[in-house]
Amino acid sequence: MSPHVLILGGTTEARELAAALAARPGVRVTTSLAGRVARPGVLDGQVRIGGFGGAEGLAGWLRDEGVDALVDATHPFAAAITANAARAGAMTGVPVVMLRRPGWVPGDGDRWHLVDSLADAAEALPRFGRRVFLTTGRLGLSAFTGLTDRHFLVRSVELPEPPVPPDTQVLIARGPFTVAHETALLREHRIDVLVTKDSGGEATAAKLTAARELGLPVVLVRRPPLPEGVRAVTDVAGVLERLSLDST
Ligand code: NAP
Repeated sequence: MSPHVLILGGTTEARELAAALAARPGVRVTTSLAGRVARPGVLDGQVRIGGFGGAEGLAGWLRDEGVDALVDATHPFAAAITANAARAGAMTGVPVVMLRRPGWVPGDGDRWHLVDSLADAAEALPRFGRRVFLTTGRLGLSAFTGLTDRHFLVRSVELPEPPVPPDTQVLIARGPFTVAHETALLREHRIDVLVTKDSGGEATAAKLTAARELGLPVVLVRRPPLPEGVRAVTDVAGVLERLSLDST
């Protein structure tokens, strides 16, 4: 019988994995999306949308749909669904593969200040300057609303969820961005400090290079830890290897 793989998606890697698995004869692939984005784009294989109802709900879905392997390819900051994936795997015995793109690594000249949360980022911010480029996503901006004397340039794929800081300019844009583009943006808006999450990946790394070249500080939110005992793979080839499907 064809193996059924469920991918927890919402990332570029999940999309690439769905394409790689769907291209294999005899493999059935379903991608699950949270439903946060209005137009998620076309995905290879089947798609289901919306929460499962916690780890128990996910475990029930794995059983009901005859899933043979679960791949958590969600964003590194989507900690709740990752914890649910680990628990649902333990409950059902379905093997779970965690896919996490590598985090960003500082280079010579980087002025990174690492923090554990958006609240800590907001606390650290005042010492770095007045004009802030904020690219931590459209959720969680309430952490910065107390900073009434700062100017925020917020960039996100969809409109940020209120409340946002009082002096906020919103830029709706989707990467990838080039270093030249990011440098021009930082200059144009006279940015003093960049605040971002350690999402990793190529598509949005250019802002870090631009900040380094302009000598600007970066407040970088660390990733939440993986569930205990979990060892992630870092790319699609690693998933295929764990699933015993080679990547050629
Ligand atoms: P989260 O906090 O870890 O998850 C919250 C709840 O949303 C989960 O408990 C689950 O609901 C549901 N959920 C999340 N991902 C799901 C998926 N792929 N399929 C079905 N249900 C899902 O997640 P989040 O940070 O809100 O992220 C939501 C989605 O956006 C993820 O799929 C992630 O890959 C993507 N994303 C997140 C970020 C980010 O910065 N967090 C950035 C880019 C993309 P139930 O408990 O009801 O199952």
